[in-house]
Amino acid sequence: MRLDEETVNRIAAGEVIHRPANALKELLENSIDAGSTTISIQVKSGGLKLLQVTDNGHGIKKEDLKIAVERFTTSKLSKYEDLTSISTFGFRGEALASISHVAHLNITTMTADSACAYKAHYKDSKLIPPVACAGVKGTTITVEDLFYNVPNRLKAWKHSSDDLLVMTPSQALKNPTEEYNKIVEVTYTFVSTVALKLQQAGENSGDVRTRVNSSSKENIRNIYGAALARELIESLKVKVLYPDCRHKCLISGFQLNMQLSNPNYSVKRTIFILFINGRLVESGPIKRVLESVYSQACLHHMNFVCIVQLTEEQYLPKGSHPFVYMSLKFPPSQLDVNVHPTKQEVRFLDEEEVVQYIQDEIEKCLLGANASRTFSIQT
Ligand code: ADP
Ligand code: MG
Repeated sequence: MRLDEETVNRIAAGEVIHRPANALKELLENSIDAGSTTISIQVKSGGLKLLQVTDNGHGIKKEDLKIAVERFTTSKLSKYEDLTSISTFGFRGEALASISHVAHLNITTMTADSACAYKAHYKDSKLIPPVACAGVKGTTITVEDLFYNVPNRLKAWKHSSDDLLVMTPSQALKNPTEEYNKIVEVTYTFVSTVALKLQQAGENSGDVRTRVNSSSKENIRNIYGAALARELIESLKVKVLYPDCRHKCLISGFQLNMQLSNPNYSVKRTIFILFINGRLVESGPIKRVLESVYSQACLHHMNFVCIVQLTEEQYLPKGSHPFVYMSLKFPPSQLDVNVHPTKQEVRFLDEEEVVQYIQDEIEKCLLGANASRTFSIQT
């Protein structure tokens, strides 16, 4: 049986938009692609009831409001070859379309050459004719009732009498607080090139602001606290893999910037934040390397603590959970960004060599940390 168009679109949308934080990531990417310098975010119930992003970017022309929300329409790519040198976050033209199939979507936008702003409402990706309104240059995108028509994803949620969302045991999404925490992570770690402001509607707490050009360490301190920030080892390296072009005709290399928790410090759960060319992504091979290096470093550390314990009543770390922030930068030609609909994965050339180099660097950092710890106790 051939599925009807609406069903196909809703299934596809579920692949792109998993949870509020990743809808927010898509909206922020669009705002940055539009050249914004300030962005403010409003959130209600962990982003499930409301997710609103307002930017001061170049806006969307009235005549483009219709296609902006259709699948596979983008202003950022015109032919496949453009992908090899793409500098924008977006290129698939799927985010707004996906959001419009699983939420109520409104866009208010104004371009510099327009006399007024336009407010557009969409139903299943279809534009209801936009109306003129007052506004300033930029775009506000409002996403309400995310997953209202995706019962499986919302199965876990039901509205209680006090209008809070409550989890049932078969949770598909986490609770609003956890979703909000994810949103905070995305907001802070996302970019340091724009000023971001995040507010929880109807809540006095939990608001965050980021400065332009804030350092990764500053952002980590803001989200995860000063205690963790004090325990971080910083590393910045540039590696050229084939300097003389004898092995490969391509000169390949990369920059690696890391903030690692030292092996004496453990966070509640493993946190691994990876940026590749400024994109927040995931990488199985790098994650596996981290886990193995940290578990070895932890064993090393436990042996050491055992000796100390003879004289001091100390407890052993029960399995160390590391915090790792990593930013990798490659020349765009070394990177394939089109691997996954959420753009959550990227592939890069010379993966084995790069991963090996990362492993060696983390080992060096952690061994150095243990050496300094030993020294400080011996004195
Ligand atoms: P993509 O980012 O891959 O192009 P999206 O579905 O995320 O696809 O967005 C579709 C189009 O809508 C973009 O190509 C862009 O032209 C426009 N757009 C979306 N958000 C904004 C924004 N905040 N400011 C200006 N234009 C936007
Ligand atoms: Mg986009």
